[in-house]
Amino acid sequence: MPYTPSPTRYDTPGFYRRCGRSGVRLPVIALGLWHNFGVPDDPDTARAIVHRAFDLGITHFDLANNYGPPEGAAEETLGRILRDDLGRWRDELIISTKAGYYMWPGPYGEWGSRKSLLASLDQSLRRMRLDYVDIFYSHRFDPETPLEETMGALAQAVRSGKALYAGISNYPAAETVRAAALLRDLGTPCLVHQPRYSMLDRQVEQGLLGTLEREGIGAAVFSPLAKGLLTNRYFGGIPADARAGRDPRFLTPAQVTEQAVTRARQLDAIARRRGQSLAQMALAWVLRQPAVTTAIIGASRVSQLEDCAAAARLLGFADEELEEIETALKG
Ligand code: NDP
Repeated sequence: MPYTPSPTRYDTPGFYRRCGRSGVRLPVIALGLWHNFGVPDDPDTARAIVHRAFDLGITHFDLANNYGPPEGAAEETLGRILRDDLGRWRDELIISTKAGYYMWPGPYGEWGSRKSLLASLDQSLRRMRLDYVDIFYSHRFDPETPLEETMGALAQAVRSGKALYAGISNYPAAETVRAAALLRDLGTPCLVHQPRYSMLDRQVEQGLLGTLEREGIGAAVFSPLAKGLLTNRYFGGIPADARAGRDPRFLTPAQVTEQAVTRARQLDAIARRRGQSLAQMALAWVLRQPAVTTAIIGASRVSQLEDCAAAARLLGFADEELEEIETALKG
């Protein structure tokens, strides 16, 4: 059956937020392809997740050169989906990619040189069969490359038409201020910063979120569900098909402690009183921050994606609910 997107995909009220002080609005929930879109993953499920995401108004798909496994495979998976069907709706999509982590051998396959970034972007475009990406990120701050060079490469990507906007990811607050000033001077302002943020990882509250607000840069926060720990995924042990069971490189079984599961159950009880799933409440919680434009989730099945997208139905919190959450997190 040829894919036809849902005609009601843009009907959810409040589903889009302006990204910083830019002209672009992003969906409050975006789909990341870090896991579940590689070679070992079922291509039909991958395609179904992407289709369902777009049907639900999720216009933003987040990638990086190294997502897989193996590196590059997630971009190839999306490239096939774009070629076969979704590509017809390219003007309704915000597709991002990044360069900075290890991608290929030798001195140019990682970090922040102009050589590395621009070569990587060309590779990403080929894998996704795209003429341009919407956002090109420097994936991490490189302390050994002049920031002028890294930001110059992002600006070049934009000026050449291979990217529409520049972004940075995992940059500390001070380097973010410097990067923003450089990009502004180059005429290609920083659209978005991508940091990790969840109830279990609140480092960005120590300064970065305030910096982003002042700079007019949107935050697209990643791993808002703490890779699955802020969901019901581990309530009955570690399922063989869950991330901690299947690909423990980034979430080890040892991290799924009894304490973590007990805390998740307490949070789940609060979420249920609100009429939400735990995943939905965890997403609403990061989105309560004015600096946060979008929460980038991962999903291994369509039902998870649907659950997450429905978080947009209830984003507000009563003060007492926030206090209850704080208490549960301290426990
Ligand atoms: P999440 O914290 O959203 O974790 C996603 C996982 O949680 C899923 O794979 C699934 O686990 C589980 N899950 C999701 N929804 C539900 C649900 N409703 N109910 C139960 N379980 C659920 O984010 P990720 O860690 O996957 O990261 C998201 C994206 O962020 C990445 O794809 C990437 O685009 C970006 N990212 C960026 C980084 C950077 O350096 N810039 C680094 C890391 C991520 P399971 O697979 O076990 O079913």
